[in-house]
Amino acid sequence: MMTIVECVLDEHDGWLVLLAALLCVTGSWVTARLFQRMASTDGAQRYGWLFMTALAAGVGIWCTHFIGMLGYDAGVPVGFDLAMTVVSLLVSVIGSTIGFIVAASRLARFTPALGGAIVGLAIAAMHYTGMMAYRVQGIVSWNPTYLIVSIVLSVGLSAVALHLAMRPGPRSTNFMAGVLALAIVMLHFTGMTAFRVEPLLVDGSFSNPAAFQALAFAVAAMSFVIVGAGAVSYMIDDSARAASMEKLRRLALSDTLTGLPNRASFNERLNAEMALARENNGRLVLVGIDLNRFKEVNDLRGHSAGDEVLRILGRRIRELLHEEASEFVARTGGDEFSGLYRMHDVHALSDFLARLEAALFKPIHFDGAEIVPGASFGVAIFPDDAADAENLVNHADLAMYRAKADPLRNVCFYEAGMDEKIRARRTLAADLRQALERHEFSLHYQVQTAVSTGDILGYEVLLRWEHPQFGPIGPDEFIPLAEENGLILPIGEWVLRTACAEAATWAEPYKVAVNLSAVQFIRADLPRVIMETLIETGLAPERLELELTESAIFADRERALLMLRQIKNLGVSIALDDFGTGYSSLETLRAFPFDRIKIDRSFFTMAADHPQTIAIVRAVLALGKTFGIPVLAEGIETEDQLSMLNAEGCEEAQGFLLGRPAPLVEIIGRGELTLNAGRDGDDAGPALKVAGAGN
Ligand code: C2E
Ligand code: CA
Ligand code: CA
Repeated sequence: MMTIVECVLDEHDGWLVLLAALLCVTGSWVTARLFQRMASTDGAQRYGWLFMTALAAGVGIWCTHFIGMLGYDAGVPVGFDLAMTVVSLLVSVIGSTIGFIVAASRLARFTPALGGAIVGLAIAAMHYTGMMAYRVQGIVSWNPTYLIVSIVLSVGLSAVALHLAMRPGPRSTNFMAGVLALAIVMLHFTGMTAFRVEPLLVDGSFSNPAAFQALAFAVAAMSFVIVGAGAVSYMIDDSARAASMEKLRRLALSDTLTGLPNRASFNERLNAEMALARENNGRLVLVGIDLNRFKEVNDLRGHSAGDEVLRILGRRIRELLHEEASEFVARTGGDEFSGLYRMHDVHALSDFLARLEAALFKPIHFDGAEIVPGASFGVAIFPDDAADAENLVNHADLAMYRAKADPLRNVCFYEAGMDEKIRARRTLAADLRQALERHEFSLHYQVQTAVSTGDILGYEVLLRWEHPQFGPIGPDEFIPLAEENGLILPIGEWVLRTACAEAATWAEPYKVAVNLSAVQFIRADLPRVIMETLIETGLAPERLELELTESAIFADRERALLMLRQIKNLGVSIALDDFGTGYSSLETLRAFPFDRIKIDRSFFTMAADHPQTIAIVRAVLALGKTFGIPVLAEGIETEDQLSMLNAEGCEEAQGFLLGRPAPLVEIIGRGELTLNAGRDGDDAGPALKVAGAGN
């Protein structure tokens, strides 16, 4: 009995067998891939992939068979029946279509195997229909054992192939391809082993092997084209998928508003950079960045304005980065950014920081207004300041808070010991939250005097905080804290209301001067708050003066001037505080008719006859004269200073010499002030009851 191996070796043209095998493997490989794609898509796409799968499988199977047949040497003249040959091709394509539909249906756990069995049947049906198209001059007989074995092998192996294909796992596609190819090959050659021909030499003319070979190559070429088309469509789709996956990944890692990387990609980058720095013994700089005026923009101009500001800043940052130096900035929070910088030398780092500073401080023109976003930068360096990512981030944050709290510095480098101070600050901020409810605030009053006559003009109100543990804390310390977390708004309102209520009880109509923080000043409803306070307390508007520093105006000039006019229209006067320390622009004085200029107390720390002091006093007096605004000198501590002022023609002064800030009861006790007849201290408002010690 002839074995399968003998059949392959002895009765076939080796080259054509090789070609058939190559085609079988290629066809199966492409089929498996197309099938996987079909099984994982839905809708119209699924039908497209099904068509491609069935075509590749049907053509691959059929061509393998046909070329195998052409390579078979029956020892007698042979020919092919065209109609039956076409039928066998259709059986192959249609049968495998049905098989793949069933296999991918996911109706039950066994459907992949069932579909595979159908494909196996189709392969067998194709083969034996094809054999019917094979016309030989001789008596054909079949070995029933090989015939049955061939069908069982085909059905069984195909069932296994598709069962494997539908199992999850990275290699399932290759398993399917391999087993399917085996099914096709086994069927064909076992089937050929079953095939026996007893030659009947009728006309003695033999078929032409050269013509068969040509036919075989033509069929192979055709089928490679078809299978190749399937492979190409798979690859095109694959790369399109890869591209869209990559895009999705990028989207997930980048912030859509600014186009900068987001927090997730920052963390990824931080870990990678730290690993690199460890390897190279390098240093990595982390820069924490927090915008200064973003909340204002959002609150005053709405979220779309806020978004626009972020978008502009994002673009500026992207443009300033030197990517070849692997500079990296991500948006890591609402108005927070984080930068990474591989430290080469200190000069390069300060260049990086300077570029960031310039980008974030450059004004943004928006709706006809000018916004200076501004930012605070905290710098921490690995491994100098921290040994791991978490500490590095924390330390950069600490430095950043420090920069935020310091009006003179935008950039702060982390220093050991900062933690303690910041922690103390944080607890202080938490205590500040409760200070109002716990009545820990009180007001002190400091007299403002006419220099030539010594007459009292009014009193400046100065806020005091008596901390339950730490005792008195100065406003220079807690006002910036309150400004940072917005507490200045309720606190400032309390000061205004209390001061107005108390002043309304004075018999003498002295002015009361209340300090306003720049943060209060940007609130749109400030004029309304002032008006309501005046109505509630019954204080005449001309007795109230608000003290304002230039920084309040600098933030948003147009708005500030509008606000000042509204307040002034109420009849309230406005003093320009701390003149000479800030921007001291002539423009500010020209643009708005202040009622008073206060020369900052720092100018009076030097001796009264110091040329610089005299020069400043003269300059400011000249300015006041030009604009018709009275000038008050602050921080007057000595008689010399007072007489100098007198000599120079400065008419108003305030300072320890003329009176230290003190609680109202003390001032009343000194006889400077009397309360309204018919009213006593008990109705006068909260501050009278919480009088603390003077300073
Ligand atoms: P300021 O508005 O310049 O207030 C004057 C400060 O100078 C007061 O300090 C006062 O005690 C101090 N001073 C007065 N005379 C002299 C003097 O002759 N020599 C010296 N060396 N100092 C003198 P204080 O009370 O510590 O207030 C500091 C700052 O805190 C104030 O500066 C003001 O900017 C702010 N502040 C105080 N109360 C309030 C408030 O109710 N609201 C707001 N927003 N800020 C306030
Ligand atoms: Ca003041
Ligand atoms: Ca002042």
